[in-house]
Amino acid sequence: MNLLQECKGAGRIGISGHIRPDGDCIGSCMGLYLYLRKELPQAQIRVFLEKPAEIYGCISRIEDVDSSFGEQKKFDVFFALDTAADRLGAALPFFEAAGKRINIDHHISNAKGCGDVNFVDPDASSTCELVYRLLGREGLDVEIAKALYMGIAHDTGCFQYSCTSPDTLRAAADLISYGFDFSRLIDETFFEKTYLQTQILGRALLESIRFMDGRCVVSVLNRKTLDFYGAQPQDLEGIVSQLRTVAGVECAIFMYEMRALEYKVSLRSGDKVDVAAVASYFGGGGHVRAAGCTMLGTAHDVINNLSLHIERQLDGKEAKA
Ligand code: AMP
Ligand code: MN
Ligand code: MN
Repeated sequence: MNLLQECKGAGRIGISGHIRPDGDCIGSCMGLYLYLRKELPQAQIRVFLEKPAEIYGCISRIEDVDSSFGEQKKFDVFFALDTAADRLGAALPFFEAAGKRINIDHHISNAKGCGDVNFVDPDASSTCELVYRLLGREGLDVEIAKALYMGIAHDTGCFQYSCTSPDTLRAAADLISYGFDFSRLIDETFFEKTYLQTQILGRALLESIRFMDGRCVVSVLNRKTLDFYGAQPQDLEGIVSQLRTVAGVECAIFMYEMRALEYKVSLRSGDKVDVAAVASYFGGGGHVRAAGCTMLGTAHDVINNLSLHIERQLDGKEAKA
């Protein structure tokens, strides 16, 4: 796909990503936004996302993000980044009504793509890596490089997860050559936690329970606890990865109560369980080693339903990834 070719003649271009935007979603949307602004000065370009967390304040033009999703004239081209249409949230009507819909994603659960034009590679570490591929060397500048590097670093757990490939590292090497302070960027957007985040992480770890002979670990935060700390969804990122580091654990489950009898579930695995398959079964999706879904019922029901599928895989009754 040639980005500028696809946008040729477009007067209004929109960009959005998934609900509860993470570093890859924000990095890819902003990287593409900065690039299109530079290359297509005549076009009206808008970027829509749920309000990015304050840590993303270091990304150039983040203040341009429209989180009000007010009524919009039809877009000639609309990009859905780091997601399929189902998690576009309030941007879905803009995407659906657009003259041309373009989908750039790396979720295996969205392998076919949801646009008229699709650039989906489930083997890519991140959507930022895909945007990097599309822009090429000529398209980059220091601010775009910073946004894309951030997304790659976040989705690879700082180049640690198995989605990190030689191409990922080559992209990262190229991006840091633009000269931004990559060490500080990752410190501020990835490692640094607010006091509240460390408190709630501690609480989640303290209350975690191992089962299936220690091959699974689960932690649940209910509404009352979240309200006590005043925790928002973005304060809970990273908890599930921490649970996954427990020795012997093949699959970690972290879930929090969104409303009565409704849980947001995050799954992470070592090298035995395909959690994308588990999450997809329950209407969610993601990657083989990191996936999520929303489930209804009591926490007990949710854990029971999930563990059935996880146990089947661990016992080798289903093909292992
Ligand atoms: P999470 O643990 O929710 O941060 O999600 C882990 C991975 O799965 C991320 O790449 C998400 O984008 C993806 N994911 C989470 N929930 C869903 C869902 N309902 N549908 C598709 N992908 C999801
Ligand atoms: Mn994402
Ligand atoms: Mn991603």
